[in-house]
This record gives sequence, structure tokens and C-alpha cells, in this order.
Amino acid sequence: MARSRAVYVLGRPTTRAVPELRSFLDRNGVSYTWIDVDGDALVGLLGARERIDTLRLPVVLCADGTAIEGPEAYHEPLAAPPPHIAADVAYLTGARWRAEVAERLGLSTRPAHDVYDLFVLGGGPAGLTAAVYAASEGLRTVVVERHAAGGQAGTSGRIENYLGFPEGVSGAELADAAHRQALRFGAEILVGVEVVRGEPQAGGAARIDLTNGSTVEIRTGLIATGVHYRRLQAPGVDELLGVGVHYGASPNDAVAHTGLDVAVVGAANSAGQAALQLAEHARSVTLLVRGDSLERSMSRYLRTRIEERANVDVRLATEVESASGGGRLEELVLRERRRAERSTLRVDGLFVLIGGEPLTGGVEGWLRRDDRGFLVTGADLLGDSASAEPRWELERPPMLLESSEPGVFVAGDVRHGSVKRVASAVGEGAMAVQLVHRHLAGG
Ligand SMILES: Cc1cc2nc3c(=O)[nH]c(=O)nc-3n(C[C@H](O)[C@H](O)[C@H](O)COP(=O)(O)OP(=O)(O)OC[C@H]3O[C@@H](n4cnc5c(N)ncnc54)[C@H](O)[C@@H]3O)c2cc1C
Repeated sequence: MARSRAVYVLGRPTTRAVPELRSFLDRNGVSYTWIDVDGDALVGLLGARERIDTLRLPVVLCADGTAIEGPEAYHEPLAAPPPHIAADVAYLTGARWRAEVAERLGLSTRPAHDVYDLFVLGGGPAGLTAAVYAASEGLRTVVVERHAAGGQAGTSGRIENYLGFPEGVSGAELADAAHRQALRFGAEILVGVEVVRGEPQAGGAARIDLTNGSTVEIRTGLIATGVHYRRLQAPGVDELLGVGVHYGASPNDAVAHTGLDVAVVGAANSAGQAALQLAEHARSVTLLVRGDSLERSMSRYLRTRIEERANVDVRLATEVESASGGGRLEELVLRERRRAERSTLRVDGLFVLIGGEPLTGGVEGWLRRDDRGFLVTGADLLGDSASAEPRWELERPPMLLESSEPGVFVAGDVRHGSVKRVASAVGEGAMAVQLVHRHLAGG
């Protein structure tokens, strides 16, 4: 029988699951041909439109000639996860479909063992670093990643501030190298897979059910699921990521922009704090606010401090229309909505703080979160006994990155109080493995 060797994805650009599916395939190195069923001449020539109309799109036509129709219900995985993953049928249907697509396209989706010393949820910098250290130190380790190894960092065009890369490094390159390094030490990395439920077992272990029907028993866990940042949609912004455009702002960014001109986009407290932090060092800070006022979105004390700072200029009703520069960010085109006026702003840095949600799908109600949904660890677990969130129950104090569940650790962006940077995620991932050893040795 003749076998087709190519993979095809058939759909419409507007079909709900299409952008996520194509990103999933691209980032996992699956080569495929995209067929827009309305625009493809071959579809028309073969008279296939009628047949296509009977299918649930997108359809993945696998190399062996079999087809996978789209999910019956779909929930964008990078949007806020449902509060209880197992209860959300649409989410779970989509998640199981992704697992099936991943498996049928030959990606690594099934655990090779029944029992693991360390189970890592999330394969970004924090999760992959933990996998490298744990596997190299003899712990049987599995990473479960729902999209693609590398996490947010893998989507960054150029990371300029990561140690050891004076010319910068592309996120994809860093993600690929880290992925291969973890595999070389013997860690398993499953992609397209998520957790359906976890159940504590006797002796401190837990049983974890995955969306592809696999079950594993784990002795310790690390949650490294990161944050979903809302992206600024304006021409030029994505291309200048890492070379002047940044998501979030750290104290180091403020020092790095000493004497320079920067802009901050956002209207919430995080944007206000970033503007003030940057204003300590920068020559000028322009705070770009889409709404007509800051009153409802930002605390009064921050607004007052911003008003008092001579080098912070607040521009209300203003949006970034485009960003440009020769090799790095130099200029923004702004649009003032009320007067419909355009202006240009010369800047050396643009800091985007328009919101992000910690990705804690599957662990809500089990691990303690702060009021913004970030996972609480270490000494922070001991305060606020009035909270309805799960609390620390043991007599010994929690270890540094330990969650409210003994033996389950948290690293990277999803952790309450974390610095949102690749290097800090890497550091926490490495540190978590030392704590895993300590837990396995009996605390
Ligand atoms: C556009 C952009 C540019 C950036 N540029 C820089 C930079 O130049 N320098 C810098 O230092 N930092 C940069 N950052 C920040 C940096 O990328 C993050 O701080 C870092 O990636 C955090 O690592 P992490 O491992 O904690 O989380 P992430 O990188 O977010 O990884 C988390 C992983 O968990 C997976 N996941 C989530 N939920 C589940 C689930 N339920 N089941 C299974 N898997 C799940 C996700 O798919 C993801 O792969 C940038 C961030 C963005 C968004």
C-alpha cells in the first residue's frame, strides 16, 4: 500500500484551535503543510469542499494517512486555566485531543516507568533545569509539558541578559539546547500532555493521571508552570523583544537603563511600581495608559508617588501603535485616542506590564495560592492563618521552595515573589533539586 509521508493540517485561520495547533507543531519541530480549506486551489479542483464541510476542523492528516478531526469542544490552553481542570469538560476534551495529536505525530508522550523520584510539571527554564540536575544526580525524572519544552523563554526572539551569551541568544536556541541536555542525562520529557488529577498515596507518594490515560506514581513534585503574559499587539513589538522590548521589569533592568529614556505600558499596580523603580535610574519614564484615568486600576499611594516624580510623564488614553529601530528599539509611534493624534517617542526601553496570569491549572484547591493566584512557598506559608487556601500542616517549617504540600516544590514565574527572569527560573529549578534530595532523605 502506498503511504503518504507528509503531515497536513487542514483548517481555516479563524478555526479556534488552529493558531495553538500550528504553534504546537512548529515549536516541537513537526514539519507539516498547512491547507487553508477556503483558499487552497487543490481543495477546489478536487471538489473536496463538500466533504471537508462534514469534518470537524482542524483536521490533522498524519504521515500514515490516518486523520484526526478537531476536538468536540475546545478551550484555548494558554488562556486562564479553569479552576478545576477535571471539572471543565471543554478544557479536558481539548487537552486530550492535543495529547492524541502529539502521540500520533510521534512526539514523546508516554512515561517509560511507573514510579518517578521527581515529577516536574512545566518544561520552561525552571522545569528543564530541575530535570538536568535531578537526572544527572541519579533521580528518575519525568517532565510533563503541555505545549513545548522551553516555555516562555522559548518564544523570546533574543534574550540579551542571560549569563554567558554576550551577543544574546534566541529563546528557541536556548530551549532546544536545554531540552537536549535534559534528555542526555536521562530525564523523560513528555509533550502535549497534562495532568488530569493527582491523588495522595500512603507514605507521602502521589498518583498522577495524565490526559493521555497514563498513570505514574511520584515521590516528589515540582510545579514550574509559569505565567501567561498578555502580549502587546502592535507592529514591531515582537521583532524587538529582548532588544529593547521587555515583559515585566526587574531592579536590574532599572539599573541597566541608567540615564536613558524608557516607556512603561500598563495601568495596574505592577506598571506603577515598574515606572517608579525605573525612574530611580532612567532619565525619563513615560507611562502609557490606554484608559482615561489611573484611578480605578492603580492604588492611590502609587499614583501620588508617580505625580511627585518629575521624570515620570503619564499619558492617558494613549496606545502604542508601532515600535521600530535599527537592530534595537529606538522609537514608538503613539496614538492619543481622544484627540486622534499621533506622535513619536524616542525610547531606549519599553516595558510591557499589561497583565499576566499564573498557570496553576490542576493544582488549585490543593496548593496554597496568594490573592493573585501565585503559588506560595517556604516561610510565606506560615503567615495569614485566616486564608481559606490550604495551609502548612507539619511541625517542621517548610523548606525554601516547598509548597503547602510537603515534598511538592515550586520554581520560576508561577511562584509567589519570584523574579520574572530566565536566570532566576533556572536558579530556582536547580535549587529545588537540592530540596528534593533533602525531602527524599527524610527531611
Ligand atoms: C515575550 C517574553 C520575552 C521575555 N524575555 C526575557 C528576557 O529577555 N530575559 C529574561 O531573563 N526573561 C525574559 N522573559 C521572562 C522569562 O521568559 C520567564 O521569566 C521564564 O521563562 C520563566 O520560566 P518558567 O520556567 O518559570 O516558566 P515558563 O517559561 O513560563 O514555562 C512554563 C511551562 O509550563 C508549561 N505549562 C503551563 N501549565 C501547564 C500544565 N498545566 N501542564 C503542563 N505544562 C504546563 C507551559 O507550557 C510552559 O512551557 C520573557 C518573557 C516573555 C513572555
